[in-house]
Amino acid sequence: MNKPELLAPAGTMEKLKCAIRYGADAVYMGGPDFGLRNMAGNFTLAEMPQALAFCHEQGVRCYLTINSYPADHTLGRLENYLQELAPLPFDAYIVSDPGVLRMIRRISPEREIHLSTQANTINHESVLFWQEQGIGRVNLAREMTLEDISATTRAVSLPCEVFVHGALCIAYSGRCLLSSAMTGRSANLGECTQPCRWKYALVEERRPGEYQPIEEDSSGTFIYNSKDLCLLEYLPDLVRAGVASLKIEGRMKGVHYLAGVLRIYRTALDRFCADPDGYTADPAWMEELTTISHRGYTTGFLLGDPKDVGQSYQAGYLRSHKLVGVVEAMHGEKLAEVVVRNRFQAGDQLSLMGPAMKNADFTATDLQYYDQQGTLLPVATVHPNMRILMPVPAGTAPDDLIRLPAPMQEFDS
Ligand code: SF4
Repeated sequence: MNKPELLAPAGTMEKLKCAIRYGADAVYMGGPDFGLRNMAGNFTLAEMPQALAFCHEQGVRCYLTINSYPADHTLGRLENYLQELAPLPFDAYIVSDPGVLRMIRRISPEREIHLSTQANTINHESVLFWQEQGIGRVNLAREMTLEDISATTRAVSLPCEVFVHGALCIAYSGRCLLSSAMTGRSANLGECTQPCRWKYALVEERRPGEYQPIEEDSSGTFIYNSKDLCLLEYLPDLVRAGVASLKIEGRMKGVHYLAGVLRIYRTALDRFCADPDGYTADPAWMEELTTISHRGYTTGFLLGDPKDVGQSYQAGYLRSHKLVGVVEAMHGEKLAEVVVRNRFQAGDQLSLMGPAMKNADFTATDLQYYDQQGTLLPVATVHPNMRILMPVPAGTAPDDLIRLPAPMQEFDS
């Protein structure tokens, strides 16, 4: 039984560093074009060498997504892009389109290439086909069951990757035209506006603006809205099935999501691989995953067709904690310089989170806000982007996160 790689999204440099700090073995990022998450921040060509150097110094592999389906008239732009990327030491490109694969083989013949989930690979014959085309790893479609995943990994020598956590599309792995049809922005070109998460109503065509009450619940009708995938409980089954990489979705998600999800999967994976027979999952792990922004959890297709239990009938996200600050530096053992992300005030009960399941509850006291000139200002409530000094629990380290219990059920990207 081999220990699989834990693969995390890196939407920006801050998120890349966060992913590595919280236990990623490998990260995937998008560039300025052709990467399917045009709104994720992404990396410019100028930023990529620094990101790659940082990953490789930490012993972390770095993959680049080039997984859109480019139209013929964009191939010249893609050719230039691939030429500019050629000298950069990416450990692999992630692609979907056979034409893109062919171009990469010509421009960077040595580059390892992984097949994206967008290619919807759902059986071992497909994996063998892609192996013949020079693919080095296949991401199996999220629509596969555990039984089919095991049968596929047993039948092939090519490493297979599966998504274990993150958002799901209501359509087949992003092969979806909702966004194109409703907004003109194509999901298959990285511009999904997520209409599957919108609230829908019924309108009779001669009465525009008169919405008929067809509510699934009091908050509306969400006919396309999938819950998020969470396969933590089945992580041992996936490792035993021989999956080579466990992938987390979410290049557009923030550091709170990344840190919270990664540290749980890192801990679970390490514990299971160290002692498979003695392994038991800690119930606190699932509890922890509900503190982070999500749409309710489902095991997707892993155990068969999820039918309506895979659908979320609620608007927006659920969570029990919000990120209010990131520790920038420590001044002594218990005084932190914090960059504020959301409002909080003296007296609030906060919790610290860090790698390796570091948690500590504390009360916000003695908040000191300094202006640019270093003058201490009297501030009762801190606002986003402020820098403050505040007492924190012993053991706090730079880049630790500070959270405030704050239940939410609304849109919050
Ligand atoms: S609209 Fe929803 S289902 Fe369609 S691609 Fe976008 S996120 Fe996926």
